[in-house]
Amino acid sequence: MEFKTIIEPFKIHSVAPLQMTTQSQREKYIEEVGYNLFSLHSDNVLIDLLTDSGTGAMSRNQWAAIQHGDESYAGSPSWLMFKDAVQNLFPYKHVIPTHQGRAAEKILFTAIGGKGKVIPSNTHFDTTRANIEYTQAEGVDLVIAEGKDPSSLHPFKGNMDLVALEEFINKTGVANIPVVMMTITNNSGGGQPVSLENLKAVSAICKKYAIPFFLDACRFAENAWFIREREAGQADRDVADIVREIAALADGMTMSAKKDPMGNIGGWLALNDDDLASMCRNLLILTEGFPTYGGLAGRDLEALAVGLTEVISHDYLKYRITSTAYLGKALLKNGIPIVEPTGGHAIYIDAKAMLPHIPPLQYPGQALAVELYKVGGIRGCEIGTVMFGRKPDGSEVASAMELVRLAIPRRTYTQSHIDYVIEVCAEVAAHSQELRGYRIVKEPPALRHFTSEFAPL
Ligand SMILES: *Cc1c(COP(=O)(O)O)cnc(C)c1O
Repeated sequence: MEFKTIIEPFKIHSVAPLQMTTQSQREKYIEEVGYNLFSLHSDNVLIDLLTDSGTGAMSRNQWAAIQHGDESYAGSPSWLMFKDAVQNLFPYKHVIPTHQGRAAEKILFTAIGGKGKVIPSNTHFDTTRANIEYTQAEGVDLVIAEGKDPSSLHPFKGNMDLVALEEFINKTGVANIPVVMMTITNNSGGGQPVSLENLKAVSAICKKYAIPFFLDACRFAENAWFIREREAGQADRDVADIVREIAALADGMTMSAKKDPMGNIGGWLALNDDDLASMCRNLLILTEGFPTYGGLAGRDLEALAVGLTEVISHDYLKYRITSTAYLGKALLKNGIPIVEPTGGHAIYIDAKAMLPHIPPLQYPGQALAVELYKVGGIRGCEIGTVMFGRKPDGSEVASAMELVRLAIPRRTYTQSHIDYVIEVCAEVAAHSQELRGYRIVKEPPALRHFTSEFAPL
């Protein structure tokens, strides 16, 4: 008998209290910080869906690994456990530990980027793009058209547009393309997966033109699970095998261990090329640390080694993907428009469709995110004109989409927490016509979403 309730495949081992607040308290807290959710004290947030990055719960085996960690400066056994765990799934010759994903990006693009270079991806994550641009190289996004349409039900909306990629290579010239990247799952495109078929095709194009192919593999396990669920001929496979097959298609990877590796901190760069690896290790020593710990403590390396064995569990992945879809389905049932199909790590509410009376330059996503906090203490993240609207020339342009992302930390909230989120969203939807937009009263020169202050209109 297969039951329809997917239970959390864990029991709670250690608890952290939630501080209950009232709506009138929250109205005061959010006003005090200029209506910027990043500026709240997290104690005053009930359900924190700001990000899934580093916010998950570690297992008791990971905590035991923390105690077992060895802090030798060089050649620690914790390093060897970490390296083995990484190479078990991603058998690249060189593994270079870093304190976060962006440190791996910074090292890689310092080595291969620079003026005149152009780096294509399905969609570059914002830190990836920023690190590319910091070297004066350029990032180009070539995701398929369905990936930019919130209502398209394509099963692999993270796929690369293969025709566009070959055209891009021919137009730009192989000499100017140091690497082709693929983000799995496509975080900035709604956590949408990439198919194995598409990864194979991109790999073949890279081989044809002799361009290295790197994965931005932060959510590799969620992506492999989607392949198993949605791609013909994959349903009986072990996720670990799918991951190894994906790894073999590429020449290297960058990783944020704050995502699928179940860590609160960490990352790595892994690759096959000896010369590039030696250049990257030299950069690592400059800014991160000795090559057997990178920016991490031995105990962190060991906790990540354990996390890598846990994230490929089919029971875990089934729960993870099903529970994310559970939230998405319930919102749809309550008439709340979301990006479909639901991705792995988050639900994206379409604020433009939900609040058609608020023009983009009055920030409908911000209005919705603030209301979810006021009404229910839920913290989501605006991904729209506040985040992307200010252009380098100083003009302000409406973003293509106005989304509010509800990212789900791994193994952290139970189904009753999520049921509460659904109830709060439904309550906000019921009085959505009363919501008003915002104007920005204080704005920093760059990355304005983090520190801008707002006033209600
Ligand atoms: C989080 C993330 C990064 C950056 O990793 P950090 O650990 O936050 O520095 C890069 N790419 C993707 C797809 C991510 O989700």
